[in-house]
Amino acid sequence: MKITDLNAENDIGSNCLYLEVGPFRVLVDCGVHPKKAGKASLPVLSKIPDGTLDFIILTHCHLDHVGALPLVIRRNPQAKILCSAASAMLVKRILRNSVTVMMRQREETGIKDYPFYTYEELDRVESRLFPLPLHGSREFLGRGDRISVTLYPAGHVVGAVGALIEHKGRRHFFTGDVLFLDQNTIRGAAFPREPLDTLVTETTRGATPHHPDLTRAMEQARLLKCIRETIAGGGTMLIAAFAFGRMQEILMLLHAAWEDDLLPDCPIFCSGLGVDLADYFDMISRKTGTVKFRRHVMRDLNARPLRGKFVEPGLDIQERGIYVLSSGMLVENTPAWRISANLLDHPRNTVAFVGYCDPDTPGGRLLAAKPGDEFEYPHLEYTAKVNARVERFHMSGHADREELVQFAKDCTPKHIVLTHGDPPAREWFMKTLRAEIPGAKITDPAPGVPFEV
Ligand SMILES: [Zn+2]
Ligand SMILES: [Zn+2]
Repeated sequence: MKITDLNAENDIGSNCLYLEVGPFRVLVDCGVHPKKAGKASLPVLSKIPDGTLDFIILTHCHLDHVGALPLVIRRNPQAKILCSAASAMLVKRILRNSVTVMMRQREETGIKDYPFYTYEELDRVESRLFPLPLHGSREFLGRGDRISVTLYPAGHVVGAVGALIEHKGRRHFFTGDVLFLDQNTIRGAAFPREPLDTLVTETTRGATPHHPDLTRAMEQARLLKCIRETIAGGGTMLIAAFAFGRMQEILMLLHAAWEDDLLPDCPIFCSGLGVDLADYFDMISRKTGTVKFRRHVMRDLNARPLRGKFVEPGLDIQERGIYVLSSGMLVENTPAWRISANLLDHPRNTVAFVGYCDPDTPGGRLLAAKPGDEFEYPHLEYTAKVNARVERFHMSGHADREELVQFAKDCTPKHIVLTHGDPPAREWFMKTLRAEIPGAKITDPAPGVPFEV
């Protein structure tokens, strides 16, 4: 098999691996870079000859894995999109939101590349979806050869899978984004631990040492305590969370606290996409049984979409309560960013982060700020003082690096390929895997350069 990493840099970026497996042409994921804008955010799709792809394996519906999918389908309308049943139900809704966001960005920033695709093109994507049952190997015949694909639950987010490709007796496994721990909404990854020829592994947390005293349960308890303290002090709690996955995780946590009478009596607001996705999660739960989230969670909590006009930045929010809003990194012009402009100046409020924040995003900058520092909202021509409490809770959607090394050891791969990590994270994996699995060849792929496995 020949692999070409089409992400333009060795970072988390726009995930897209181009595989030449015998006569078959396969793409694993097709994302957009979360920190870049316009065409620079796309993988190098020109390396894929038009009309040649047999399959696109979609590991999950985060935009760094799915955001460029309609562009590939436009040039490869014959390709089958292999994914979980849950991802097949979610993908159109997620991409529709992406079109809406790109249209808004075009207006706000003048980037003429946006939107990359239209609402209408999403129907074509939908018509090419080919959901596979989990754990069941599926063989495809064609081009005078055969290839088989098996999807396994990857934890991480609803619908996420790792993929095993078997061809001519050789076994190649792609982890996608993976979390082995159970979450509130989904079970952890269930990957086969059997001998492999190739393991293509994510490396997100390679630069993050394991902290035994930062368990998920302890962090969730600390978050609930922080909510109670903030509301009891007359303040408002903003929890910045990605609309897909993390928001429903937080709502499940709030619901469990509500059942145990540990949640203060106050209104709860969510951003629109998160509320919508709660309905999708309910549907996926009923149809596939792979999700624990049900619609009554929203009803019981009386969680409502955020509506109405934003008040002037700096003015404290009128309706006190818990605001669970996207984006998780407080990206400019998102509901969380906008509401934070009302909360930051006032000491009784809290701004909380529950996922990874890139240092170059407003969320990353706010986490690096000290109390009393100035914090700028250039689009609003407003500068706040960091008087509110700013907290970070560790609930990563990605496996600890030690767990991924153990998984690699269990699979005794001949060749390990590193993906989905910043350079220091890849370096740690390179060094550690070399020491732990001395017989394996390890590749940190150069962007755009094909290599054999
Ligand atoms: Zn992801
Ligand atoms: Zn990812």
